[in-house]
Amino acid sequence: MVEFAPQQGQGAAAPLFAQSFAGDTYNTSIYIARNGVQVSYATLLGDDPYSERMLQAMTAEGIDTVAIEQLPGRCPGLYTIQNSADGERQFTYWRRESPARELFADGHRRAQLQDHLRQMDCLYLSGITLAIMAPEAREHLLAFLRQYRHDGGRVAFDSNFRPRLWASKEVAREAVAATLQQSDIALLTLEDEQLLWGDRNAGKCLDRNGRHQLAELVLKRGPEPVLLQYDGELTALDVPPVSDIVDTTGAGDAFNAGYLAARLKRVEPELAVAAGNRCAAQVIRHRGAIIPAAGYQPDNGAPIDGLARA
Ligand code: ADP
Repeated sequence: MVEFAPQQGQGAAAPLFAQSFAGDTYNTSIYIARNGVQVSYATLLGDDPYSERMLQAMTAEGIDTVAIEQLPGRCPGLYTIQNSADGERQFTYWRRESPARELFADGHRRAQLQDHLRQMDCLYLSGITLAIMAPEAREHLLAFLRQYRHDGGRVAFDSNFRPRLWASKEVAREAVAATLQQSDIALLTLEDEQLLWGDRNAGKCLDRNGRHQLAELVLKRGPEPVLLQYDGELTALDVPPVSDIVDTTGAGDAFNAGYLAARLKRVEPELAVAAGNRCAAQVIRHRGAIIPAAGYQPDNGAPIDGLARA
């Protein structure tokens, strides 16, 4: 999406905004690429100047954009951020007409995209990806994931539950559960799980997700230890304390990137969690989901300057 974040004159009738690009899977893609793993991003955009600049921004990050189709006469979804007096951030969205909503809908485009996706070692998608798609398109996606995994591909999924994007909680539950059934790696956030399923605690959440036969289940809980279920064992892994947190927007997306990039480099899951924490720690010390490339330290397993180790 196109993002407008307030710069000056907050609360004024005509505040000034800084324009950039963000979105959950987009944020994750950027940090995976910055950690040295090849990424191809699949979506639909328009042919307006913002779509063009979004493509340029991805290319500048080293992300492959061949699977991004541009629909003539269309323009991408957009949102603005407002900071209220108590420092809370409020988001306003314009995305009903976003071309990304047509992912997997058209038969010809879907066939082309599937050919491209079959070449990938791992596919990553989120609950927002599911939420913006048409119900029939979701069915096609699930059928594709089933075949893709049967042929040896790995699927990673973050349920990222945003109630306003769904017709009802029941529809969301069904789609999320069906996708987890087709996933190898689940990167969940306890807060979202509680919102969607009403889990009283992490134990309930792990029990429920246990039936999906996931190879790896990672449960993020903000500053609380990350829970990792892998190879029949449950491990609680401390999150190193982070000083001077500025803005936790995109923390979960960045964590996912650190984790997945490490796993794709065949790093063990426990160490991949540490990489996830390191990536998130960098992001929450800056304003916004995407921190400047020049200030980002690519992950090579070493501690990040100024951050304690767990
Ligand atoms: P989301 O952004 O999806 O809500 P979380 O809030 O659970 O996700 O945070 C994701 C990750 O970001 C955590 O697992 C941790 O690595 C990091 N993180 C978030 N909040 C903090 C914090 N207060 N201190 C240190 N790390 C944090």
